[in-house]
Amino acid sequence: MVTRIGIHASVETLFPPTVLVDELDDVDPEVTVVTSDDLDGVDALVTFAYDDAFLDSGLEWIHSVQSGVDRFPFEDLEAAGVRLTNSTGTHGDSVGETVAGYMLSFARRLHEYRSKQERTEWAWPAWQDPFTLDGSSLCVVGLGTLGQGIAARADALGMDVVGVKRTPTPVDHVDTVYPRADLHEAIADAKFVALAVPLTDDTAGMIGDAELDAMRDDAVLVNVARGPVVEQDALVDALEGDELTGAALDVFEAEPLPEDSPLWELDEVVVTPHAAAATRDYAERMAALVRENVRRVAAGERLANAVV
Ligand code: NDP
Repeated sequence: MVTRIGIHASVETLFPPTVLVDELDDVDPEVTVVTSDDLDGVDALVTFAYDDAFLDSGLEWIHSVQSGVDRFPFEDLEAAGVRLTNSTGTHGDSVGETVAGYMLSFARRLHEYRSKQERTEWAWPAWQDPFTLDGSSLCVVGLGTLGQGIAARADALGMDVVGVKRTPTPVDHVDTVYPRADLHEAIADAKFVALAVPLTDDTAGMIGDAELDAMRDDAVLVNVARGPVVEQDALVDALEGDELTGAALDVFEAEPLPEDSPLWELDEVVVTPHAAAATRDYAERMAALVRENVRRVAAGERLANAVV
């Protein structure tokens, strides 16, 4: 039975913690904003950050307000008897729209016009640069919640969509689903390659020199997964060496992206601040996940989105 839910102050990164407290005013457990020093009596914690203090504070269940839980030490949590749930299943539309936006920007040159607007510059693009997404190709690497959200929007825009996943079963809106072993074949013909895998031992460095070589020179890489899925130095080299046309990056090896990163300066790189999933509905969506799992705990059912 959950008696007290703490909303960790770190969720402030995504939305004000009190908004989630208000959203959860219909659940039986008491819901309050807490910090890592103030976990007495809290049995369930909703958090953005991970803190070692969570291990020996009597918590029974932690809910991560992110889908990616690569920062959480699974074995330590298991040893401490703390269950962990994540927020997968909630970001297909927000991230799908963001990726559609990146691709539209590259095709229709919107980022170029915006940069020129800042210089009060009225100028037609180079005639060969604009194109349409209709008829362009996309490879989505990772076809879960995010990948399917991306694929559905790309298909609606008339793109030819292929994808990659661990278990290459058919996926709606995706013409061909490749296994991980065929990654190079999958990305070889794509104008856009969009990464939507979790960060794991197998996906760290998944896109390095060899994969950038395998991609078309006029390709655009989109990363909404996690920074270390891409070898960032190799990416910068490829962009600076014209082996890749552009990139739309929401996630980076180091976040915030350091001021001296060359990625800030490249015209054909769109940098967003790990905000692909941002939406004013974020807290409401978290409340729905937490509410469902409070019900499941009371009913003795397995937690939804269980990771540990
Ligand atoms: P899901 O668990 O729903 O989907 C993950 C997909 O990745 C699955 O299709 C899975 O394959 C595939 N996959 C996993 N490992 C591999 C591998 N080694 N090779 C090929 N495919 C693999 O996760 P989500 O879609 O919800 O989220 C994915 C990740 O995106 C998160 O872990 C997080 O890091 C990141 N994310 C980023 C956000 C942002 O704001 N930028 C927002 C939300 C998530 P299979 O189906 O075969 O198991």
